[in-house]
Amino acid sequence: MSDADEFRGKTVVVAGGTRGIGRAVSLAFLRRGAQVIATFARDEEAAGNLRQEAGRDRTRLTTLKCDVADEADVAAFWASHGSSEIGVLVCCAGIRRDGLMGMMPTEQWQTVLDVNLTGAFRMARGAIPAMLRQRIGRIVFMTSPSGSHGMKGQANYAASKAGLVGMSKCLAREVGRKGITVNCVCPGFIETDMTSGLPASRIEEMRALVASGRLGTPEEVAAAVMFLASASASYVNGAVLEVAGGL
Ligand code: NAP
Repeated sequence: MSDADEFRGKTVVVAGGTRGIGRAVSLAFLRRGAQVIATFARDEEAAGNLRQEAGRDRTRLTTLKCDVADEADVAAFWASHGSSEIGVLVCCAGIRRDGLMGMMPTEQWQTVLDVNLTGAFRMARGAIPAMLRQRIGRIVFMTSPSGSHGMKGQANYAASKAGLVGMSKCLAREVGRKGITVNCVCPGFIETDMTSGLPASRIEEMRALVASGRLGTPEEVAAAVMFLASASASYVNGAVLEVAGGL
């Protein structure tokens, strides 16, 4: 079997799959033959750009609005897709709303938790029945060094990302015997819209901390996701794979 066929016939859901890391993940799965459902929250234009970029592979791509922070949206998504043979779920949907914790309104805290942690919970909970039926499946979450090391101004974001690690390890224990693996990828500083809004001085500070001396690309993170989703990673479960250039 060639690389291009590795995921042929498999359905892959990429939550937050239209921009940044998720976009690179969607494209990587399309290039390897998968049927990809890439969801997003608001940005129709980015979804259109992804369809454009998919080229001939776009016949196997569905882009769909599904706000992971909205219980009804996610329920409707799984009502339509829960009977499909979902082989892989990658949860990339994420936001940051930074601010010092001592002055952080509860709403700012809650918004980030709702998307990054509860959103991932909702998506994974919906995927499990299909994966249990097939007795095989791969779930990958995106965590962050902020969740393990902490970062000034990111109490809400760090809490959500640390929560994902605990959640994924519990889920791995719950479903591991049924052929399902649940892992996290921990990207470092990656060039996406999420980091492009930061001041140049902050980006320089971040770059100085990285052993590789540069920010990473979404494609470098997607490569780790592809590994975790592959047959070769069948015994990698409950793990956190860092793709951070030696942060
Ligand atoms: P990004 O470029 O901002 O893209 C985020 C994607 O998530 C977009 O497709 C966005 O859709 C979608 N999204 C946001 N809120 C959503 C919601 N409520 N429901 C559904 N989809 C939603 O972000 P990124 O940098 O690629 O980050 C992807 C993941 O990696 C995030 O979980 C992030 O925390 C994590 N991460 C990133 C870095 C980094 O340096 N970039 C480092 C560590 C971890 P719309 O276009 O509709 O908004």
